[in-house]
Amino acid sequence: MANIVAIVGRPNVGKSTLFNRLTDSRKAIVDSESGVTRDRHYGKSEWNGLEFSVIDTGGYVKGSEDVFEGEIRKQVNLAIDEANVILFVLDVSEGITEDDKVVANILRRSNKKIFIVSNKVDNFERQGQSGEFYALGLGEPYNISAISGSGTGELLDDVVKALEPDLELEELNIPKFAIVGRPNVGKSSFINALLGKERNIVTSIAGTTRDSINTRYTAFNHDFLLIDTAGIRKKSKVEEDLEFYSVMRSIRAIEDCDVVLLLLDATLGLEAQDINIFHLAESNRKGIVIVVNKWDLVEKTTNSTKEYEEKIRAKLAPFKDVPIVFTSTITKQRVLKAIEVAEHVNINRTKKIKTRELNDVMLAIVENQPPAAIKGKHVKIKFINQLPTHAPTFAFYCNLPQYVTEAYIRFLENRMREQFDLSGVPIQIFMRKK
Ligand code: GDP
Ligand code: GDP
Repeated sequence: MANIVAIVGRPNVGKSTLFNRLTDSRKAIVDSESGVTRDRHYGKSEWNGLEFSVIDTGGYVKGSEDVFEGEIRKQVNLAIDEANVILFVLDVSEGITEDDKVVANILRRSNKKIFIVSNKVDNFERQGQSGEFYALGLGEPYNISAISGSGTGELLDDVVKALEPDLELEELNIPKFAIVGRPNVGKSSFINALLGKERNIVTSIAGTTRDSINTRYTAFNHDFLLIDTAGIRKKSKVEEDLEFYSVMRSIRAIEDCDVVLLLLDATLGLEAQDINIFHLAESNRKGIVIVVNKWDLVEKTTNSTKEYEEKIRAKLAPFKDVPIVFTSTITKQRVLKAIEVAEHVNINRTKKIKTRELNDVMLAIVENQPPAAIKGKHVKIKFINQLPTHAPTFAFYCNLPQYVTEAYIRFLENRMREQFDLSGVPIQIFMRKK
């Protein structure tokens, strides 16, 4: 299961500085090439061989100079819900403030593993001052300087010890589907339509960190795990209106699954928040199915599905090769179909293309349309293979990998998608020196 570390604290204590230090920007999971704005508040980190995600919850509070107490509460409660481990950052040069006390009071009532991080301990004298933070009743402070990095190694040694990987879900060797989407798109209804009458053939597997409902479905030749974000504690409308909260609620489900079923409300279409969730799935290299729900509410013309599909795909560019299913949980239209499509995407995501076939097909295409020569230098692609990774990754071996343009790589990707069924699957193509 996903391991998530959340950074909390009032503004200006150094949360984003610490976040940047923990998440190597080169590994930032959203790449700049595709024109996707890089998410500066969510990234991957690794320490002593253990991978985990880091979220800077404070980073989402706009105009962080005057954060209201209520805003901090929301942030901290969200971190408690979603994270396995919480880093509570304080500024040693300022000591304990009223806002710090608000955060501490909420954290003390949770049963999450919490680390008190005394930041800006830039010199020896300041180490002594950290002692003040014992008074928060949350344990021993870790002295760090987020700017220089000192002390962060000791902190991480203990953080990863607290992140015991729970392999329960991974051991279940069946496809895992996450049902995600904004509030009210019909996630609960979708799951009920699917499971409703078949409750007896369903086994509930309790989530380890909160009450998320992971349900195994075995019937009619289907066997998969549903990771459901719908049942999570009822939250206020205001909270959910914030883009960050709906994205954050999806992070764990997306990280834990193989294929994301992104539900949309047909009457609203694909909006910015949906696109954020889509990019989250894409950058985690999960399979994706777009489910346009409440299709019963849309007035049909002869071409309505086709036109609707095209509108959605235009907004998903450049990754447009994604299946779109139109459902209604009210009339039970195509709910099972959406699952079948997800199963197909899962097969695409795990397939291994034979090296022989890959080379026969793609080298012919390359020969027909080779990369343009740059400064009189010709790129020669000689051999292609699929790397043994979770999600499809292909290496093209050539003499001058640095001369291959992004545009040409995109061309190769599009041809691969035409030749091999990779629908719903983000792929990676690397140029390597032969
Ligand atoms: P956030 O609002 O909690 O995310 O805080 P920032 O990471 O933006 O940092 C606030 C200010 O504190 C910035 O000016 C940082 O450069 C500074 N800062 C962060 N970490 C340290 C540190 O370890 N030592 C010192 N002296 N300043 C720091
Ligand atoms: P969730 O917040 O995503 O779990 O959404 P719900 O499943 O609670 O559904 C929100 C509302 O949309 C409820 O009033 C549902 O009855 C309604 N709804 C869900 N699916 C459909 C559908 O396919 N068609 C129509 N017309 N209404 C739907």
